[in-house]
Amino acid sequence: MGQLFHSVLLIEEKCRGCTRCIKNCPTEAIRVRAGKARINAERCTDCGECIRTCDNYAKTAITDPLSRLKDYEYAIALPAPALYSQFGPDVDPATVLAALIDMGFDDVFEVAYGADISTFLTVEYLRRNKRKGPMISAACPAVVRLIQVRFPALIDSLIPVDSPMACSGKLAKEAKSRELGICEGKIGAFFITPCPAKVTWVREANNLGSFAVDGAISISDVYGEVAKRLPEVIPPYPKPKASSAGAGWGRTGGERIAAGIGKSLVVDGIHNVIDVLEQLEMGKLSDIRFVEAQACTGGCVGGALTVLNPFIGRMNLEALVARLETPPNLFEELDIDLNLLRRFDEFAIKPQIVAVPAFRLDQDVSRAISKAEMIEKVVNELPGLDCGSCGSPHCRALAEDIVQGLAVDTDCVFKLREEIEILAEQLFEMAKKSPPALKDNDAFSKPWE
Ligand code: SF4
Ligand code: SF4
Repeated sequence: MGQLFHSVLLIEEKCRGCTRCIKNCPTEAIRVRAGKARINAERCTDCGECIRTCDNYAKTAITDPLSRLKDYEYAIALPAPALYSQFGPDVDPATVLAALIDMGFDDVFEVAYGADISTFLTVEYLRRNKRKGPMISAACPAVVRLIQVRFPALIDSLIPVDSPMACSGKLAKEAKSRELGICEGKIGAFFITPCPAKVTWVREANNLGSFAVDGAISISDVYGEVAKRLPEVIPPYPKPKASSAGAGWGRTGGERIAAGIGKSLVVDGIHNVIDVLEQLEMGKLSDIRFVEAQACTGGCVGGALTVLNPFIGRMNLEALVARLETPPNLFEELDIDLNLLRRFDEFAIKPQIVAVPAFRLDQDVSRAISKAEMIEKVVNELPGLDCGSCGSPHCRALAEDIVQGLAVDTDCVFKLREEIEILAEQLFEMAKKSPPALKDNDAFSKPWE
């Protein structure tokens, strides 16, 4: 596998090796070695959990700077619905869009409108797909990556339609290219992102070929600039065209409400998502048709790159959703506008989702089995306290690291103490021994009497 891009990074000089982050990482991707956290690139999902956890601000997310707008002849902002939630319960989306243009974007295209299209595609996919059992939304890239890394058996259960971000990028560029008569390559589409996982998705998709979204700028980077312009922007404002259902995608449950699919399960918070995915992997919950799973608590409003408390963000978005409207014939309008049914395949998710076998013990099956047996043996010799002092998240992870040659048993402070005690006893016994020349020893004195 080539070099993986990750938005989430360690700022080494700020890391104090406290081991706090290793316990919360959902894919056990972090170890502390030589006093510093280390992230395993294959296992990391860019969920941002460690950014939230680190009190020393040693974890950060790489995003695109606003200066990247200059790389394009025409720059379009694609604001996530979660952006609206950052500016209070009474925010007018039109003024947020106007503020983005005032900041330097040439145009805006609401990702909430892209969400309306994703909703349509999801409903259509489920209608066409006769496969039994739960189908999982692929809208949250941290969840998709988690499935690739930890639950590859569930990849076929992901709904392969484009995310609101990707739908928005495609439609925005296509429309502008037609209107302005310039090629799409000269138009830059920038997602205003609530989370690092979406930054990674955009970067990886572009590394694998051209993608409709060219960059991802964090909500926290535009927040101050938008906030100070909101009282000043003057009409005419850009006209928002997303429905209330599309805007609602920014919080947990929004997808399910928008799609109106019966027998749905909604789960948020990465550790809760893992619990549900474990059950799905075991074949449980088989009577559910649709699973909306979001890595962040509260959904995108709780992303690691937002500014506001997720619960307040959610309340604000709920207030906006209540004020907006969803026309009863929304899907029909989309169908007429975009002829989406004809373009269904064009809106299939890209890049292709494949398993990332980051938890595989060995490529060779028999070696993997013997390593698994060795791990059981090693884990039984460890104290089972899961204290994390060794720099691995728990005793089993240390056992795995030992068997993989990435750690030694004395990295465990209790094993180290046992070894020191044995050594101390040996030293003590040795210290009690004196050279024969200095002590009375009957056995040796006899011949020289
Ligand atoms: S939480 Fe992790 S990254 Fe932050 S200081 Fe502790 S070990 Fe370092
Ligand atoms: S971003 Fe998430 S998966 Fe990656 S190291 Fe941090 S907590 Fe672990």
